[in-house]
Formats: sequence, structure tokens, C-alpha cells
Amino acid sequence: MYESSWQGFLPDERATEALGGWLAQRVRPGDVLLLYGDLGAGKTTLVRGLARSLGYEGRVTSPTFTLVHEYEGSLSLYHFDLYRLDDPEEVWDIGWSDYLRGDGVLCVEWPERLDHLLPEEALTIRLTRDDSATADEGRRVELIGRGEKPLALVKELETACTSLD
Ligand code: ADP
Ligand code: MG
Repeated sequence: MYESSWQGFLPDERATEALGGWLAQRVRPGDVLLLYGDLGAGKTTLVRGLARSLGYEGRVTSPTFTLVHEYEGSLSLYHFDLYRLDDPEEVWDIGWSDYLRGDGVLCVEWPERLDHLLPEEALTIRLTRDDSATADEGRRVELIGRGEKPLALVKELETACTSLD
């Protein structure tokens, strides 16, 4: 499958939320966002920006123990945190097949836990903190689009950022 990627820098928490907001204007039910990054990388912050921009006003926190939180805004957003998932097959117990039906946007923290069960067409977002940097010194971000729509999103972001340079 074709792939396209873009790398950028998010200087502060607001920039991470803003990237979520940018995505909120473009996502549709059925879209899958895979959020990779260590604890504290900013995955939940990005989902919060996305949920807020979709008009959801409640709390947005990592669903570490419940595995999924559902947010109702102008679209439904399903926020997974699979950190505590030991066996990928356990995801069926929380209704993964229903979520994949495409009624809402899926955001998945720790998607690596799902291994072979990950959908092929998805937008991957990788957040990293420089080892040399402290927590407040920003995050590197990489977006990788796989499949027609995710790929187009990455291209759009590339164009938007090039024109800002
Ligand atoms: P994760 O869900 O990946 O564990 P969180 O989204 O909970 O991480 O964020 C952890 C911390 O990182 C929060 O205090 C948040 O404010 C901060 N943070 C998020 N994005 C950035 C950024 N671009 N630069 C600096 N700090 C950030
Ligand atoms: Mg989190």
C-alpha cells in the first residue's frame, strides 16, 4: 500500500492540541488514527485537541483502565488506550468489531498492542521527546498515511507547512 510521511515539531502543549484541531476539520466516521509514543509523549493531548474541536466539552483523559472512552461532539470519537492490553485478542471483549464498523473516528494510544489486528488503512502519528530535552521542550511528530485518505491528509499537511516556511 502507498505511504506518505511528514515530520514536524510541536513546541508546546498548545501546538499538540492545534494539530488535533487541524485533524478534527478533516476526519470522518470510520477514520483510524494510531498514536504511537512513550508515556508522556502527548498522545492524549492530541486527542483532547481533536475532541474539543469536534465540540466535545467533557474531560479527555487516557482510558488506561477502561481501555476506551467515547466522546460525542459533531462526530463520535472513540478514544482507546491499549497500554494495559496483554493479549491482542482481548480487544474483541471490548467490542472492537463494533468500533471498526465506522460509526465514529477511532483514536488509538498504544496501537502496537494490537499487532496484526490493526486496520491497514490508517493515519499513524508518532510523538517523540528528545532524550536531551526536558518535558517542556516540545515534541517531534511524524505522520504516516497509509491508504488513500490518510495519504491525502499527509500531503495536505506537507503543502500547508511548506507554504508557511
Ligand atoms: P501521553 O498520552 O502520550 O502519555 P499526554 O498527552 O498525557 O501524554 O501528555 C503528557 C504531558 O506532555 C502533558 O503534561 C502535556 O501538557 C505535555 N505535552 C504535550 N504536548 C507537548 C509539547 N508539544 N511540548 C511540550 N509538552 C507537551
Ligand atoms: Mg495518554
